[in-house]
Amino acid sequence: MKIFYNIIVLSLVLCGILSSASCAIQEDYTGELPEGFVAVRVIKVIDGDTIEVAMGSGAEAKVRLIGVDTPETRHPSKGKEPFGPEATAFTKDALDGQIVYLEKDVSETDRYDRLLRYVWTDAPLDKDSEEEMRTKLFNARLVAEGYAQALTYPPDVARAEFFLQLQREARESGFGLWALATAQVDATTSASRDKKVTHAATISDESEYIGNANSKKFHRPECDSVPTIKDTNVIVFQNREDAVEAGFIPCKACNP
Ligand SMILES: [Zn+2]
Repeated sequence: MKIFYNIIVLSLVLCGILSSASCAIQEDYTGELPEGFVAVRVIKVIDGDTIEVAMGSGAEAKVRLIGVDTPETRHPSKGKEPFGPEATAFTKDALDGQIVYLEKDVSETDRYDRLLRYVWTDAPLDKDSEEEMRTKLFNARLVAEGYAQALTYPPDVARAEFFLQLQREARESGFGLWALATAQVDATTSASRDKKVTHAATISDESEYIGNANSKKFHRPECDSVPTIKDTNVIVFQNREDAVEAGFIPCKACNP
């Protein structure tokens, strides 16, 4: 009993002295995390949908938030996109320095070696509760408040439908980037210019093939059919194999 007590005192003292991330993480860790959840501290916000975290072990990792895409702030060819800085500021404000809870879908990492994760600002009692997702799941908040578009990357699609629903709501309410998108479309009279603008924003720089969930065909991003796909049916595949594996058929016009 005495030994046990001493260990507690010792760890409290150490935490006090070091006041380190790992101590704080362990305080929050105890007990009730849903299975598969990992508590980490956000040490840097890179942009609206990418953060850097410190694990309990002290290891650091980059995390790309699943299912969302915020406008670029530092893309080599696209540069700063409208609303990118606002999205970064929103994420910084909410996450920088905080303890958050990471949840995996299917993939461990993307091809840039970033962890692919859902980021919870509070551990949910029921991770599938819509109410909890709306308030505690940061990926969902980005979409709901108009800082990000929903973006489906198979196989990490557990919440794709929900994110599309949030996107519809945000668009209807004209939140965030949707206020810009409406203004852009209103200002554009030429139909051909129109479709390039609208869909360039929908498809991220990491995309290579665009699927239509309705027709089950997939296209090269530049295919004339792409702008005609309803946003809610757009599925982005990182490569050809993913599209074929998901049961999509190559478009005969653009021959992807
Ligand atoms: Zn095509």
